[in-house]
Amino acid sequence: MLSLHNVSIRYGDFSAVQDFSLSLEIGEIACLLGPSGSGKTSLLRCIAGFETPSQGSIELRGQLVANCQNSVAPEKRGVAVVFQDYALFPHLNVKDNVVFGIRHLPKSVQLERCQQLLALVGLDGTESRFIQSLSGGQQQRVAIARALATEPDILLLDEPFSNLDAELRSSLAVQLRSILKQAGVTALMVTHDQSEAFTVCDTVALMEQGKLQQHGSPESLYQSPANLFVARFVGQFNVLPVASMDPSSQSKPAVDSGLKSRLVQDEITQKGGIMAFSPHAISLSSSMVNGSVDSVSFEMTIKSMVFRGGFTEYTLGDLEGRALRCVLSGSPDWHQGEQVVATICRKAILSFGDDGYRLK
Ligand code: ADP
Ligand code: MG
Repeated sequence: MLSLHNVSIRYGDFSAVQDFSLSLEIGEIACLLGPSGSGKTSLLRCIAGFETPSQGSIELRGQLVANCQNSVAPEKRGVAVVFQDYALFPHLNVKDNVVFGIRHLPKSVQLERCQQLLALVGLDGTESRFIQSLSGGQQQRVAIARALATEPDILLLDEPFSNLDAELRSSLAVQLRSILKQAGVTALMVTHDQSEAFTVCDTVALMEQGKLQQHGSPESLYQSPANLFVARFVGQFNVLPVASMDPSSQSKPAVDSGLKSRLVQDEITQKGGIMAFSPHAISLSSSMVNGSVDSVSFEMTIKSMVFRGGFTEYTLGDLEGRALRCVLSGSPDWHQGEQVVATICRKAILSFGDDGYRLK
């Protein structure tokens, strides 16, 4: 449905997106995920036709719609956009907002499509309501119905939850996925929020500073991060440098003996490098259990703890300044200042080179 080939976007001398490639299948819901300023909105605007790529090309349904010389007008692309602020018409009622893009069609067609779409987004019977009388979540769904009314080939959504209360967001994210799947529409959503991306989308393209870092299913990004940026952003992984185990080196290894023995077999020990593991991969105990070949242990102190309801987040630290984040289910069993042994299953440890890319 959509292919981006080596797209770069410039604003004067500033390079906002570099060499970005991505393809979307028909019916796929994909996400551009990344921190603020990583170039997500620029790419969305380029696909919609509001910006022109400085390099590369964009195809919709196999037809070239943009390169640095040619650009098909936004209204001729078969693309609909749900903007961050929804951009609804406050002086029009719900029905007139929804049918705005199809007001050239016969009244009976307009009315029928409006009723179908309001039913799809769970707003039946609100045709004559005015926009200001609706909640933020309802306004968002009117904006989605309005975008779908033109029967676009692809729906683009920019930070669709940014104007909503935190508690509404997670339930609306589930609803949005179900609405898009029922409509069978191909969609590309932009967000900086990893949990929204994972809830709504089939695939996620993670960006940093205008570059694609990894594209794949939420599970593949979480379980097999290509580099440390992905591991940190998607899994909030703990990251610890491992000193080189070169025997001539006098420097103290940055990891405890249990880990050292395992790492002897690993490439990481010859070169030095970085290991990373999820905060969920750590278990805590009060004393060192006899070194298991399957796990690695560190003696640490509880620096802080936050009870989050169903789980507790701990920050652990040691005298060498290493810090670990650990998440355990249930209420706090450990308290600030207590000495603990943090144990990590070896299978859960991923190895990265000094360049930040995954070893293997
Ligand atoms: P995101 O949506 O990921 O937050 P944007 O695509 O909005 O990122 O912006 C990417 C970078 O491009 C930012 O550094 C931003 O300041 C810059 N930028 C965006 N739009 C313009 C513009 N019209 N002119 C100049 N710089 C821009
Ligand atoms: Mg943006």
